[in-house]
Amino acid sequence: MNNSDLNTKTISLETYGISHANFHYQLSSEELHRITLEKGMGQESDLGAIAVNTGEFTGRSPKDRFIVKDAITEDKIWWGDINIPFSEAAFDKLYDKVIAYLNTKELFVRDAFACAEPKHQLSIRVINEYPWSNMFAYNMFLRPTVAELETFTPEWTVVNAPGFMAEPSVDGTRQHNFAILNFTRKIALIGGTGYTGEIKKGIFSALNFILPTFKNVLPMHCSANVGEDGDTAIFFGLSGTGKTTLSTDPNRKLIGDDEHGWTPENTVFNFEGGCYAKVINLSKENEPEIYGAIKKGAILENVVLDDSGAVDFTNTSITQNTRVSYPIYHIDNIQEPSIGKNVKNIFFLTADAFGVLPPISKLTPAQAAYHFISGYTAKVAGTEAGVVEPVPSFSTCFGAPFMPLHPTKYAEMLSKKMKEQGVNVWLINTGWTGGPYGVGTRMKLKYTRAMINAVLNGDLGLYSYDAYHIHSVFGVAQPRECPGVPTEVLSPRATWNNDEAYYKTAFKLTNAFRENFKKFEPFANEEIRRGGPQRYAF
Ligand code: ATP
Ligand code: MN
Repeated sequence: MNNSDLNTKTISLETYGISHANFHYQLSSEELHRITLEKGMGQESDLGAIAVNTGEFTGRSPKDRFIVKDAITEDKIWWGDINIPFSEAAFDKLYDKVIAYLNTKELFVRDAFACAEPKHQLSIRVINEYPWSNMFAYNMFLRPTVAELETFTPEWTVVNAPGFMAEPSVDGTRQHNFAILNFTRKIALIGGTGYTGEIKKGIFSALNFILPTFKNVLPMHCSANVGEDGDTAIFFGLSGTGKTTLSTDPNRKLIGDDEHGWTPENTVFNFEGGCYAKVINLSKENEPEIYGAIKKGAILENVVLDDSGAVDFTNTSITQNTRVSYPIYHIDNIQEPSIGKNVKNIFFLTADAFGVLPPISKLTPAQAAYHFISGYTAKVAGTEAGVVEPVPSFSTCFGAPFMPLHPTKYAEMLSKKMKEQGVNVWLINTGWTGGPYGVGTRMKLKYTRAMINAVLNGDLGLYSYDAYHIHSVFGVAQPRECPGVPTEVLSPRATWNNDEAYYKTAFKLTNAFRENFKKFEPFANEEIRRGGPQRYAF
C-alpha cells in the first residue's frame, strides 16, 4: 500500500469556485476501483484490473489543444497548427462555465507531483468528474507521502470535466471537446473528452514549456532505463514505435516509459509515476512484464471483455488504441527514485511502414540532429482490404504535439548534451521488413530487443569501421552482424528480394524527408543538412 492511502487531510475547493463539499479527496486506488464498479462505470477483468470505456474519444484530439496567449506565452510559444492560441477572456469565461457544471457534480480530487527530481518537482491538484479518471491520476503522477501531503500547496490544477460539452460558437473552441493550457493561471482545462491521455499530456506540455524556459532542463518525449553498470539509455519515438515496450526490459531498471527531463547536472528524471501501455495484441509470452502489471490497481481502457471477464487483447472493435495505465511499482525491476545518470545510448525509434530503413543503424551527430528535427515515423493507412499506402508522418522532436517552443530550441539542447556526454545515437526501425505494410511484416520484437541488447552490452562493433556498411540511400551506418539476429534481417534491401522496388520505395521516403525538412533549412547549418538522406528520386 502506498502512504498516500492513509491520508486524513481535508481540503476546500472554494478557491476554484467550487462551493459544495460533495467531493472525495485523495481516495486510495482500491476505493476508486470500488466506486467505479459501484457506479457501473467499469467492469472487473479476470486479471484484477478494472476496465473502463473512455467514451467518444479513445485518443487525444490534437486539433482541440489550445494554449492561452498571454504575457507569459505570447513571445515564447511557437504558434501555429500545433500550438493554437486561445484568448484570456474566452478562457476565463469557459473556465467559469466548467466550474458551474462541476458545482452540480460529485467530484474526485487528488494532489500529486510531477518530476521525480526534487529540485524540479511540480505540485498538481487534479479535479475529476469521474472516479476512474482520478484513479488514472493516482497511477500516472507521483504519489505524495502523508508527510508531503501535510505541507502540500498545489501549483498547477488540472480541471477535468469529460461530461461538459462546449458550444463552439459561444466558447471559442473548435468543437465540444477541448484541452486548454493557461500558464498565467496555471490551469489545464479539459472538457468534452474522457480520454485520460489528455490529463497526462496536458501536464507534459506544460512542463515542456516551463523546464527549458526557466530551468535549463531538456524535456523529452522518451522512455528511459538503467543498466547494471548505471548507464542510462533513452528511447525517443512517436506513438506506437515502442517506447513503453522496449524500455520495459527485465534486465534493466525502468526509469519511465514516456516523459523525462535531462538536467544541467546530467541526470535524467521521469516526470511521471506510472506507465500507459498499448495493449493491442498484448501477449504474456512476448511482453511478460507489461502483462504482469495488469492486476488490481491498473486501469484497462477500451478493451473488450467476455462474460467471464477475460480480456481479448486482439479485439479492436472499440479502438486500436487500447491501453492500460498502472503505477510504476507494478513493474518489478524499477529505478527508485525514477532518476538515472550517465547517458550512454540514445535510440530513435521509428515504425517505418515503407520497410526501407535498416532495423538498426548508427547515426553521426549531424544525422542525429537531422533525424531529431525530422521525427519520422509512418502511419499505416486504413485497415480495410485493398491497396494500402503507408503515409510518412513527421513530428519534430518525436513529439511535436506536446512541444510549445520552436523545435530548434529542444534540438539545440539535445545536440549540446549529446556532444558533451559523447552519447551514441541509434536509429531503430521497429516497423516493417521484407516489404512495405501490406507486403512485408512487422519487425519481430525479439529481434529489435536483441539489437538493443547488443548495443547496451557493447557487442555491436562500436569502434570498427568494417563492422558497418554505409547505407547508399540513407547514409547511416548499418551493422553487418548482430548477435541474436539473422544477418539478412539487418539489410532491408536483402529482405525485399527486389532491388528495384526497394530503391523506388526508399526514394519515395527520402523525397518525403526532403520535403518535410524544407521548413527547417533556415535553422539548420550545413553539417545538419548533410545529416539527411544521401540520395533522392529525380
Ligand atoms: P505511446 O507514445 O503512444 O505510448 P509507445 O512508443 O510507448 O507509444 P508502445 O506502447 O511501446 O509505443 O507500442 C509499440 C507497439 O508495437 C506494441 O503494441 C508492441 O507490442 C508492438 N510491436 C510490434 N513489433 C515491435 C517491435 N519490433 N518493437 C517494438 N514494438 C513492437
Ligand atoms: Mn508509451
